[in-house]
Amino acid sequence: MTVSLNDIVSLAKRRGFFYPGSDIYGGLANTWDYGPLGAELKKKIKDLWWETFITRRSDMVGLDSAVISSSKVWEASGHVASFADAMVDCKTCHSRTRADHLIEGHFEKKGSEIKVEGKSMAELSQLIKDNKIKCPTCGGLELTDARSFNLLFPVHLGILAETADLAYLRGETAQGIFTNFKNITDSTRVRLPFGVGQMGKSFRNEITKGQAIFRTVEFEQGEIEYFFNPENTNWEELFESWLTAMKKFVTDTLGINSENLRTREHDDKERSFYSKRTVDLEYNYPFGFKELWGLAYRTDYDLNQHIKFSGKDLSYLDPSSNTKLVPHVIEPAVGIDRIVLMVLCDAYWNDTENNRVVLKLSPKLAPYTVAVFPLVKNNETVVEKARGVFDTLASKFRVAWDDRGNIGKRYYYQDEMGTPYCVTVDYQTLEDGTVTVRDRDTTEQLRIPIESLSAHLEKLL
Ligand code: ATP
Repeated sequence: MTVSLNDIVSLAKRRGFFYPGSDIYGGLANTWDYGPLGAELKKKIKDLWWETFITRRSDMVGLDSAVISSSKVWEASGHVASFADAMVDCKTCHSRTRADHLIEGHFEKKGSEIKVEGKSMAELSQLIKDNKIKCPTCGGLELTDARSFNLLFPVHLGILAETADLAYLRGETAQGIFTNFKNITDSTRVRLPFGVGQMGKSFRNEITKGQAIFRTVEFEQGEIEYFFNPENTNWEELFESWLTAMKKFVTDTLGINSENLRTREHDDKERSFYSKRTVDLEYNYPFGFKELWGLAYRTDYDLNQHIKFSGKDLSYLDPSSNTKLVPHVIEPAVGIDRIVLMVLCDAYWNDTENNRVVLKLSPKLAPYTVAVFPLVKNNETVVEKARGVFDTLASKFRVAWDDRGNIGKRYYYQDEMGTPYCVTVDYQTLEDGTVTVRDRDTTEQLRIPIESLSAHLEKLL
């Protein structure tokens, strides 16, 4: 990966993809706001995910469950007891760091790799001591032992604090699918195997530095629980088919270079005790290969936990055999913000030959598909003609309008936004009704009659 995270963060701020959260008040750690371009890009990604995995499949349905949920949900899921990161505090500067990141970062700097998932607090503390790992903020050597830090955000409901009920902001969207399993099977005509997908915000009290929108305290997930009967569905085949679907979405739908992707199998130590197989689809971010999308066979663990804790019968009645069963699930879970960051990193091109930065976004993802420029803004006829072109195109595409500065600068601005085509209305347009269409990647320009412009662009897209 040649692009640095700084390149991405500064482009994001310069052009309006994303900004640090609470910026005018000095920022709030691990929160980011999406700007006008980022909001468009993220929406396109979300729409493509929903369309691919829900709308176009007869075996899938969607859900939009509440962000705030009963503490019982999270007790049953195991999050209250064990959804925690190991943290160490620096006794000198009092900054807090994740123990696993601290250790992995230390070994990475030395050119070696270590995986610490699954290690106990004592083992992590020992690794830090043995390797004399320093505080990443001040360089101090006096760090506390690793301590468990729960990631769930509690919220207190109720008007009077004393009688408030404890609830949590959801730590993942998946639990809403399990808690609604019976509602869904009772209210729809789904039959096993089928999946429920949902997309929305999740919250984790994460502590990290310098990974931009990769790891935040508030983020968006696209999660699917695919329910099946293990007696008549081969889970290995189902697992493979989901892995293929995930990869296809990333390479074919989002246009990501497959060389920047890899899959990583979780070993027995790393895998949750209830999971039979877990694979991460990783992308080569500027800070190395990291999880983009997780795929796990979670067996019947979650539904059984909710049966145990709620006392409700969440089993499924198989209409063909008239027998009851608790379905098993395969869960593909992706972070939308991690997709946005991947798309930006993959598209970033420092075109040194033409001295410009280009976002080579797939036209499907570009916030604007086409930009329309009047060559000059002080000639009413040219501007009016250009407005006409804008209005015609706007019925089909997301169109940007720009009449400021010289044409070269306007092109470069659109290149950084990732706009695939720019249309310029000039003096020749007034004579022969043609406009120039400039291609973002090649910078080549063609003259096209206005009446064939829409069809021409549609063909290119
Ligand atoms: P990680 O190991 O990176 O902390 P995870 O294994 O805890 O991730 P999951 O619980 O499997 O993540 O969540 C599913 C997906 O949600 C992840 O693959 C990731 O893309 C995304 N995700 C998880 N935590 C965050 C976060 N703090 N910020 C942004 N995206 C996240």
